[in-house]
Amino acid sequence: MTKRSLSRALAQCAPGARDPLESVLQGKELSFEQGLRLAKVEGADLEALVAVADYLRSETVGETITYVVNRNINFTNVCFVGCSFCGFGRGPQASDAYSLSFEEVVRRAREAWDRGATEVCIQGGLPRDLDGFFYRDLLRAIKRTLPAMHVHAFSPMEIDYGVLKTGLPLGAYLQMMKDEGLGSIPGTAAEILDDRIRQQLSPNKLPVARWVEIITMAHELGIPTSKSQPTGCAIFCCYARFRNVPPDLPSSFRLVSSIRTPASTNMAEHGRGQRATSTCAFMRFLVSFCTAQFAMFKSPG
Ligand code: SF4
Repeated sequence: MTKRSLSRALAQCAPGARDPLESVLQGKELSFEQGLRLAKVEGADLEALVAVADYLRSETVGETITYVVNRNINFTNVCFVGCSFCGFGRGPQASDAYSLSFEEVVRRAREAWDRGATEVCIQGGLPRDLDGFFYRDLLRAIKRTLPAMHVHAFSPMEIDYGVLKTGLPLGAYLQMMKDEGLGSIPGTAAEILDDRIRQQLSPNKLPVARWVEIITMAHELGIPTSKSQPTGCAIFCCYARFRNVPPDLPSSFRLVSSIRTPASTNMAEHGRGQRATSTCAFMRFLVSFCTAQFAMFKSPG
């Protein structure tokens, strides 16, 4: 995206879209109203939004694309949480419920390593009878066999469950996991960071304040995190269709951008590629890009 084509795209869009886009280019944070306005753009305004997102992307990370060779290993699909959008979780008696042994998880991790993977992402459902130190012991089993494997594991929901099961304070629990080799925490269980919406989509999931507390504590202890936003998936479609109001995606991203990320917790530092971290510039890109994505899923009403 050249500056010339960026200027051309901006010149062709309406002032209501151009003003917030120019604010973003000047390094300013979007207000909630501005983010919401961008979530609704179409036509030339949408093209300008995409142009700004692409420009910020190139300014932030350049033109080199890096990646991590990763294997996802979901150790169980047994889960009591019951999120309304979930097609993965099963009751313990379901015919297709499964739980992998430590040996099988390690076997899959080793298979991934042998094929060139340098990272495994380990997550699963939440069974009621999970042993308190299950996550620690699973992590230990992987790191004992594959000490150089980066383990990106256990969502804030799972960390919260581990804390509940062990009775340890959050800081002590996270420190224990770091000492055992936890490389980083996936920011899943975020869904959309708005308690009003979470109450309807996944009322048994941890509240926003707890998600933020866990991510913030992880950063304080030097554990990098990521943030997943299932933009465009059923979570937003369902909400928009059945509630006929726009989801608070802009406020969700504004909350994440307010969580400062110490340099020591930058995911890029683990040396196998660049992943999402919450630098302001990158969040501005995400806000722009994801509001564009969301525009496809607006309420039919
Ligand atoms: S916590 Fe995860 S596995 Fe369990 S129901 Fe919710 S989305 Fe599904």
